[in-house]
Amino acid sequence: MEDLTLRPQTLDEYVGQTRLKEKLRVYLQAAKARGEPLDHMLLFGPPGLGKTTLAHVIANELGVNIRVTSGPAIEKPGDLAAILTNSLEEGDILFIDEIHRLSRTAEEHLYPAMEDFKIDIVLGQGPAARTLRLELPRFTLIGATTRPGLISSPLRSRFGIIEHLEFYTPEELAEGVARDARLLGLEIEHEAALEIGRRARGTMRIAKRLFRRVRDFAEVAGDPRVTLERAREALDALGLDALGLDARDRKILETILTRFAGGPVGLETLATALSEDPQTLEEVHEPFLIQLGLIKRTPRGRVATERAYRHLGLPVPEGERG
Ligand code: ATP
Repeated sequence: MEDLTLRPQTLDEYVGQTRLKEKLRVYLQAAKARGEPLDHMLLFGPPGLGKTTLAHVIANELGVNIRVTSGPAIEKPGDLAAILTNSLEEGDILFIDEIHRLSRTAEEHLYPAMEDFKIDIVLGQGPAARTLRLELPRFTLIGATTRPGLISSPLRSRFGIIEHLEFYTPEELAEGVARDARLLGLEIEHEAALEIGRRARGTMRIAKRLFRRVRDFAEVAGDPRVTLERAREALDALGLDALGLDARDRKILETILTRFAGGPVGLETLATALSEDPQTLEEVHEPFLIQLGLIKRTPRGRVATERAYRHLGLPVPEGERG
């Protein structure tokens, strides 16, 4: 699969997240020097920033295996026990995506596993039930979440390392795109990669997806290399504006500006007006709109900024001018 070969293998190949990578290098080196597994690590940040990819890179850097699962996939404590007892060796990584969606009971079974590398399994039912305590290999849990606020404090406190991933700059996204182009044997102008980076909402997954569509346009046109002009044409055709907002993002802004007079408007009210699920609004759309300074989150709700009016070409009301 194309994606697997493009996936970075080392921290050097992993683009951006410089601050985090610097710290990780220290943690990895220290764990290796001590011959101990890496501390449990919680990674948070919006979807598509490369949390899963980073977990793979860490496993590779440590020379250990990684087992990937997700919060919703672990329904019963037995599911967790099966993963922990069947497939992990000393030092291996267990990656749990969407860890905020673990059930309460599964989460409680995870505590002794994280802390003492032990797990209790209940055998049988009713008065005849017995608890069996199993020893586990010393493993590293890497949990990923888009919703750090939903992680209970007992779970959070069991992670030695808590880090967030940041949005990528257009230059970093361009670097990621250029890397894929190189691996695919495709030439792309730096300016074209940068244009993709500018319109990718700070998100590596989106940059790479846009690059594939731009590549389609270039190939169909018979271009030997992807030019800025071709990139622009493709990105315009995809309905992305100069800030990388799609039709949905613009609709959100427009709704706040025109139906709610610029806000403040509560998340639920806004979601209803847009026939959108509040969680998608909050996790997928909002972080980037906030990052771009188009909306602000206030205690009374979401408020559009002057920049939002200007971006949509609407007159800025007197009170909004800053
Ligand atoms: P998350 O887990 O945060 O939602 P992810 O790790 O699933 O994100 P992907 O959707 O896998 O992110 O990323 C898309 C592609 O971009 C993959 O091929 C991935 O390997 C690659 N990628 C992600 N982050 C980086 C990075 N920082 N540098 C280079 N390639 C990256």
